[in-house]
Amino acid sequence: MIISDWYLNIKVLPSISKKSIDYLTTLKPFKASLWELKTDEMKVYKKELLEKLLKIQNNRCVYCGLSLSRRSQDREHFVHKAAKKGYQEFMFNSDNLFASCEFCNRRLKGQKNVINQYNADYSKCTFKIIHPFYDLPDNYIQFIPSKNKPIKVIPTKTDCGKGKETIRMFELDTFVMAQERIGFIAQLDLLTSPFSNILQYKP
Ligand SMILES: [Zn+2]
Repeated sequence: MIISDWYLNIKVLPSISKKSIDYLTTLKPFKASLWELKTDEMKVYKKELLEKLLKIQNNRCVYCGLSLSRRSQDREHFVHKAAKKGYQEFMFNSDNLFASCEFCNRRLKGQKNVINQYNADYSKCTFKIIHPFYDLPDNYIQFIPSKNKPIKVIPTKTDCGKGKETIRMFELDTFVMAQERIGFIAQLDLLTSPFSNILQYKP
């Protein structure tokens, strides 16, 4: 089972237009409340960000890997931006923003601190869970087909605790998630199978 089928390894960051970058620069120092600004520029930025993230992530949640087609699509701050105990300085960093489902973002991750060791340079921070851009998921978790729980997820032998924490935080090893993954594969298989023309059948 190829892990990229399940867990996203983001290799490209969304390129934000110069106009939006210039606008964001004028907002410094950043405060969490800026995210809710109703200016046209902010709307344009958030729209282009989400569009690019969905394209890069193939319309899938960065944490659970499930399709975002029929789920609410959040622009998720990996390191959270909350005014209290948050890291507002990173709130517009392209390497800190991903698309996720509402459940993973709001119900499971919430405002948990995922920074292990802070550094003012975001790329030099260390994290408690798998970072979608800086980490290679294969180093920390693996998906195994099994009979009772068809797509089981476990930490790798070399996992330093990051894989275990990622599985725990996003409840990747629950029966429900295993079933969701099977359902997702079935949909993909149906779309790519030689019988896919059945979908076009009209009596
Ligand atoms: Zn999710």
